[in-house]
Amino acid sequence: MTIDIDLAQAARAPGIPRHDWTRAQVRALFDLSFPELLFQAQQVHRQHFDPCEVQISTLLSIKTGGCPEDCAYCPQSAHHGTGVKAEKLMSVEAVLGEARAAKAAGAGRFCMGAAWRSPKDRDLDDVCRMIEGVRALGLETCATLGMLEAEQARQLKQAGLDYYNHNLDTAPEDYGRIISTRTYQDRLDTLAHVRDAGIALCCGGIVGMGETREHRVGLIATLASLPAHPESVPINLLVQVEGTPLATGARFDVIEFIRMIAAARITMPRAMVRLSAGREEMSEEAQALCFLAGANSIFSGPRLLTTPNPTVDRDRALFGKLGLAAMDQPSGMS
Ligand code: SF4
Repeated sequence: MTIDIDLAQAARAPGIPRHDWTRAQVRALFDLSFPELLFQAQQVHRQHFDPCEVQISTLLSIKTGGCPEDCAYCPQSAHHGTGVKAEKLMSVEAVLGEARAAKAAGAGRFCMGAAWRSPKDRDLDDVCRMIEGVRALGLETCATLGMLEAEQARQLKQAGLDYYNHNLDTAPEDYGRIISTRTYQDRLDTLAHVRDAGIALCCGGIVGMGETREHRVGLIATLASLPAHPESVPINLLVQVEGTPLATGARFDVIEFIRMIAAARITMPRAMVRLSAGREEMSEEAQALCFLAGANSIFSGPRLLTTPNPTVDRDRALFGKLGLAAMDQPSGMS
């Protein structure tokens, strides 16, 4: 009964950002019929965004493999025998060359990912030069470098970093099953340092890791009750990579994935909800439903760090069929 009343209150003011989402309220969203959930998500989406525009981001692995963390889903962890070789940090010039190509392909945002537990100071200097260079090209900048101290976050901000990605991955009570080398609180601390430095947050999670619906509810409720919602919320579908502890297991139900997107859209109305990893294995119909559920951002390019992603041509064809256009870059993928 309480849930019905709460939902009725939320329904009277849908699309107004709130930070007091309870698990019961998020659970009730997941429990809605699919048509009702998608209708609510679409209503909220249209209050804040053009439903025919999708932001295109490009993600480059600037330092691949050999990561000391033990994230069970990640092929770049040194703990798993996946065959991903540890590489050095790319040169600034090479990264800027990739950024120029991404811009030419229609990207509005360029994300740089490094497989570190946290960046060393000398590496951070190079990353700052990359950020300055990418920004000078007229692209938004995003980085994901592991845990940050407050001073490191300030340095990145000074270099011009627009977004920092740091995912919560799953619900707090499920975290230890996925990662043992850091805690949920470590994660939250980095998020706070990033916010304090004035950098926008990109923070979401992964589904299909053997978690329960209650864990998915818990992740959305945690994100939606942060003091400020992340500006970007990537929702990843696990890519099962041989050699990782999560390589086997049933394929995740795509309808539940779409429910997750819709719940993120409704609870964090102004966020860019990003359809991230896992698109390569998703049908066009499933992706269309994700856009209908409020996803309005994708990663473009044939690789997402170390796993495959649809090519620009495939995305262009899908956008054409659906009548979608690229946000920020109207002359790009439209
Ligand atoms: S997800 Fe990031 S921190 Fe975890 S093992 Fe992979 S690269 Fe390292």
